[in-house]
Amino acid sequence: TEQTYKLTYSTMFDPPASLHERFDAALGEARATMGAEHAMRVGAHAVTADDCFELRSPIDRELLLGRFQNGTAAHAGQAVRAAREAFPAWSHTPWRERVAILRRAAALIEERVWAMSACLSIEVGKNRMESLGEVQETADLIAWYCDRMEENEGFDRRLPNDPLTGFTSHNRTRLRPYGVWAVIAPFNFPFALAGGPVGAALVTGNTAVFKTASDTALSGTLLMQAFRDAGLPDGVLNHVTGPGSTIGEALASHPDVAGITFTGSAQVGMSIAREFAGGRWPRPCIAEMGGKNAAIVSDRADLERAAAGIVRSAFGLQGQKCSACSRVYVQRGAAAELRDRLVALTDAIKVGDPTLRENWMGPVINRSARERFRRAVDAIGEAGTILAGGRLLTEGALERGWFVAPTVAAAPRDHYVWREEQFAPLVLIDEVESVHEAIALANASDYGLTAGFYGGADEIDGFLDRIEAGVVYVNRPQGATTGAWPGYQPFGGWKASGSTGKAIGSFWYLPLYMREQSQTVVD
Ligand code: GLU
Repeated sequence: TEQTYKLTYSTMFDPPASLHERFDAALGEARATMGAEHAMRVGAHAVTADDCFELRSPIDRELLLGRFQNGTAAHAGQAVRAAREAFPAWSHTPWRERVAILRRAAALIEERVWAMSACLSIEVGKNRMESLGEVQETADLIAWYCDRMEENEGFDRRLPNDPLTGFTSHNRTRLRPYGVWAVIAPFNFPFALAGGPVGAALVTGNTAVFKTASDTALSGTLLMQAFRDAGLPDGVLNHVTGPGSTIGEALASHPDVAGITFTGSAQVGMSIAREFAGGRWPRPCIAEMGGKNAAIVSDRADLERAAAGIVRSAFGLQGQKCSACSRVYVQRGAAAELRDRLVALTDAIKVGDPTLRENWMGPVINRSARERFRRAVDAIGEAGTILAGGRLLTEGALERGWFVAPTVAAAPRDHYVWREEQFAPLVLIDEVESVHEAIALANASDYGLTAGFYGGADEIDGFLDRIEAGVVYVNRPQGATTGAWPGYQPFGGWKASGSTGKAIGSFWYLPLYMREQSQTVVD
């Protein structure tokens, strides 16, 4: 049955043939649905703007995914109004009913995993296994949040009576929703990093306005549809499309937006956080931002594992994960062998149409992503050494999309590529004298999202204690810095990587979406 295909990152490496057949069928069906015009969704209405933008696949610029509305600040305002109107009824809906609807949404997403992941693969250029994984992760995240509501009995607790009053007082503490929540989602995980925060905001009783990234308006539309089909009342979730600068700004500056979850670059995240802080009182801003994630490899590491983990994390989804591994610090004695292994594995990567079974890497998302990659490798070409890759790929059919070669390079330590997130398949390698030095270098970054370590048993605690990152992995072949899964690896960043110090898919996530009210009623 399809249940057999319930995926996690660690079971994704050796899929059965029947899974590929099922995915091929889904791709055919997905292609047949492409090219249509899609509306935004505000309250009970499908809403259109004055004009549309055309969305094309990064795999093939000729392939039209659909036409989507060029929403404006006024549309964002309408969506906020609809969400505000829906808030009283939704926030007073018993939490068990909200959980039931959100569980239905999770089940629908799981049911639609084939159709959704086929569209996702074509739209983002994500390979088929990672696409299936992301859609499954979305369902798992929403279900995880439903579990947390139940485990905490709706975050509503009785407290002891206060003995000092002489009266009987009934004391209670409740976490209650804030109001209208804005969710601004990124292109790289348009299901998981939209559905997760939307699920969290709604299950806790907020209503929401969801803005999908323009590059992934189709995934956003499919996700919105699943939430609607699950039975959310009108206005509880609203979906707007259009330029990030306009709509993101309109949401962040709107006085009726009570909280915001933004996932994307640190630059945009910080500007949204600043804008949002300019309201009449402090408001919660959950900003999940970039990374410059390091893998540290000691002389005592299993280098086969280390190389496999680094390559998977550096080049999975073409390096366009905030968790991607972009820095490697290797201890001198292991450096030559690790470098050789990394280069050999990188040169063997199959790059091409990632919807096809044989290709592990697809294109980067758009022209400007390819330009950023080109600038970085040109700059490294002048100041450092390209060890593998280092070029655009334009042979044959690749010319139709935004393909680049996975790249391993060395560059001077003060080069900007060591500091700035590139969101591209580019990993830098440097030699160090000691694990101690490697940790210091890894920490000398504004970012602090993920980190990996490969080494001996007695080196592990030192790494875990001193590394400044929210998600850390030790001796992990499936990924040095990527591949967190809800329920196993809560995912959130420190420093410039995240604003709250609490992680997605963790026990402490839902309380971010609620404010506490302690209640005392005297007889
Ligand atoms: N959760 C993903 C991982 O662990 C990354 C999410 C992201 O890149 O935003 O690799």
